[in-house]
Amino acid sequence: MIDLHTHSNLSDGTDTPEELVAAAARTGLAAIALCDHDTMDGIPAAQTAGALLGVEVLPGVETSTVWEDSTVHLLGFGCDPDSKPLADALQRVRTSRVERLPKMVDALRQANIPITLDDVVAKAAPGATLGRPHVADAMVALGVVPSRREAFDIWLEWGKPGYVGHYRIPLVQGIALIRAAGGVTVVAHPWGHGTRGLLTREVLAHLAHQGLDGIEVDHNDHDETARAELRTFAAGHGLLATGASDYHGSGKTRHPLGCNTTSREVYDAITALIKARRA
Ligand code: AMP
Ligand code: FE
Ligand code: FE
Ligand code: ZN
Repeated sequence: MIDLHTHSNLSDGTDTPEELVAAAARTGLAAIALCDHDTMDGIPAAQTAGALLGVEVLPGVETSTVWEDSTVHLLGFGCDPDSKPLADALQRVRTSRVERLPKMVDALRQANIPITLDDVVAKAAPGATLGRPHVADAMVALGVVPSRREAFDIWLEWGKPGYVGHYRIPLVQGIALIRAAGGVTVVAHPWGHGTRGLLTREVLAHLAHQGLDGIEVDHNDHDETARAELRTFAAGHGLLATGASDYHGSGKTRHPLGCNTTSREVYDAITALIKARRA
């Protein structure tokens, strides 16, 4: 079994890269992709653990991109971490994520929630990409909400009192940056919460012309109808169809490792593309 979208505590997952790989081994996964938000810093530790435990670790990243004002998560597989244009773009996103945090804390304090920046930073591993889930975890620790879910529903979703945006890479530019770094591009959960209705078939076809390689079809944010339609669409447009858990450790329920998987055939096609592009 192959699970091509997982998170560690280098972003908003709760397992260290080593713990994630150990959990993958226990689940019986042959390969995983570590796709932390806007960073590839967890990859070396995950690959070292993978070599010891017999789990292939495909380097990945889940980039924060923007299409028509909405956030689109774009997965990059097999990118060269030393590709400067991509590394610079990811750094710009991470810096912007840090800069928005005091604004989010201020907004929540205006709403009488006694949260501090230190509370939020304490919830993230050193060097991790900081996100709303860390704010959510701090709110849970303060007893404001019972879980990340309520923190998002009431305070942190777009349009809610604690929401503040950050810099995102224009989507087509993201595709180009990943490909220039020798990577393979797959739109994460295209018809999930937030992007359903945005990434229409017309838009996805346009993105395929711009170099998009695939779409994540089997994901728990997609119901059976969406999966069937996306699978048919991918086949008709020469796009790879992946499946994955989007595992975040205990940070996201309903996303256990291996709950969706990618076929060996698609995995081999992805690694062959990476090999050709990195050559
Ligand atoms: P950010 O990266 O700061 O925009 O935060 C987005 C991240 O929050 C996503 O990658 C998810 O992992 C997480 N997230 C979004 N909605 C929820 C939710 N309702 N419950 C738990 N985690 C969520
Ligand atoms: Fe996440
Ligand atoms: Fe995502
Ligand atoms: Zn993800």
